[in-house]
Amino acid sequence: MKGQKADLVIHNAIIHIMDENETQYEAIAIKDGKILEVGPERQILNKYSSDETIDAEGKEMYPGFTDAHGHLMPYADMKLGANLFGCRTLEELLVRTEKYADKSNRKFIVGHGWDQSMWGGDILPTNEKLNELFPNTPVCLYRVDGHAVLVNQAALDKAKITNKSIIPGGQVTVENRVCTGLLLDNAMDSMSAVIPAYPEKNRINALMEIQEELFQYGITSVHDAGIANKDLPLFKKVAESKELKLNVYGMLRNSAENRTFVEKNGKVNWGNFYISSFKMFADGALGSRGALLKKPYSDAHNHLGIQTTTPEDMNNLAHFCLKHGYQLNTHAIGDSSNAILLNLYEKAYAVNQDHRWRIEHAQVVDPADFELFRKYNVLPSVQPTHAISDMRWVENRLGKDRMQGAYAYQSILKETGIIAIGTDFPFDRLNPFLTIFAATQRKNTDNQPSGGFRLEDGLSLMDCIRGMTIWAAIASFQEKYSGTLEKGKEANLILVERPLNSGRSFRENFSMLTVIKGEIVYRID
Ligand SMILES: [Zn+2]
Repeated sequence: MKGQKADLVIHNAIIHIMDENETQYEAIAIKDGKILEVGPERQILNKYSSDETIDAEGKEMYPGFTDAHGHLMPYADMKLGANLFGCRTLEELLVRTEKYADKSNRKFIVGHGWDQSMWGGDILPTNEKLNELFPNTPVCLYRVDGHAVLVNQAALDKAKITNKSIIPGGQVTVENRVCTGLLLDNAMDSMSAVIPAYPEKNRINALMEIQEELFQYGITSVHDAGIANKDLPLFKKVAESKELKLNVYGMLRNSAENRTFVEKNGKVNWGNFYISSFKMFADGALGSRGALLKKPYSDAHNHLGIQTTTPEDMNNLAHFCLKHGYQLNTHAIGDSSNAILLNLYEKAYAVNQDHRWRIEHAQVVDPADFELFRKYNVLPSVQPTHAISDMRWVENRLGKDRMQGAYAYQSILKETGIIAIGTDFPFDRLNPFLTIFAATQRKNTDNQPSGGFRLEDGLSLMDCIRGMTIWAAIASFQEKYSGTLEKGKEANLILVERPLNSGRSFRENFSMLTVIKGEIVYRID
């Protein structure tokens, strides 16, 4: 008897519901955006009739993936600027920038994605040639990690940055009393403040393209790691118009405007868009030597990195978050910032042991501090692709002895029993299948190094998938209605083209069917 009506039934699948017992079923019935029942093939097919029935042809189903650390609007703006990813020389960077300038006709040129470590010598660039090519038009070119920018003199003038500018938590690079055009961390803020925004229509179109790209990869949720106050109206617009189908868990950037927003609005939920957390920066990045280390860099003596937020401001924000019931998620790359943060988070632990405050990246941690994650119930939020993106040069920065605490995901997981996983797109590739490969094999797509990069700190396949599903849901307080494919939860699910495995070489993979709250948002036949 097919007594009960469902909106959608998917059967003949290998359904990993991602509960604690690693239960597998074959069929799922969905109604009003939620999971009615998941179970054996005959049980579901006999019980439910449905407007739409999909035969999964034996493909694997998982809960939709979450990218626990990405940047939506920076990615949208990046799509609208000059593409400098993969530039092999400074010359190529200049040529691509010129081509973009000719084509786009913009009065302020912005580009993204250069990486000096690909140029040989690992020497950070200066702006002489940029000044020759663009004597009058301001040009601002971001490094791949978003923690350094190369600008020309016209841009420096526009932002009123001189060789005497001192910016706390940042660096204006000066050689022979002349600005080289290289700005690090907080020094970039005065530059971004003078860059004119792209038209809203173009930005929304770019965001919709990104949403489509995420769905193709089976990503149904993104934790947006640092939303600027000026972007909130745009998010509200696309969320309320339902153009935003993706679940977005937003972290607000630490700014006076965003604190005022929280005082007025408390926790926010517009359609699929949620805000109940702040994102703070404790330091910069390793690539541009901005990460704050306990001992000097191995390749820059006397240099410890950059503390981008003062201890006083960190304390203020922590108190603000406690007062408003907000989660605090802090970017910490160096072992010194990780130690500072772990101790700061003790405050939250004293108030509420289930605070779920996060450390984003937790990239270099002193092994003596690993246990503090457990002690203060701090959630690590990591990006396994960073390990393979950085492995070429990271030992030069840190030296051999510190490598034991670098990208030490397994060691940290042993303490916490939970780890949220993301990619930091667009500063690394958003492909979750690459994340799985990087986390389990610790190799790049060229299969290097053959034994894996510090493989002892790799993750198991199941733990990596948990990090992108149920653990990511816990890290955003959404586990009651998302993260597994259990009865009563939102029907956020994917069917993958190839079975997920921890194979020894990387194979492309993608979602064939992506469903959010019961709605098919992406499908290929
Ligand atoms: Zn980030």
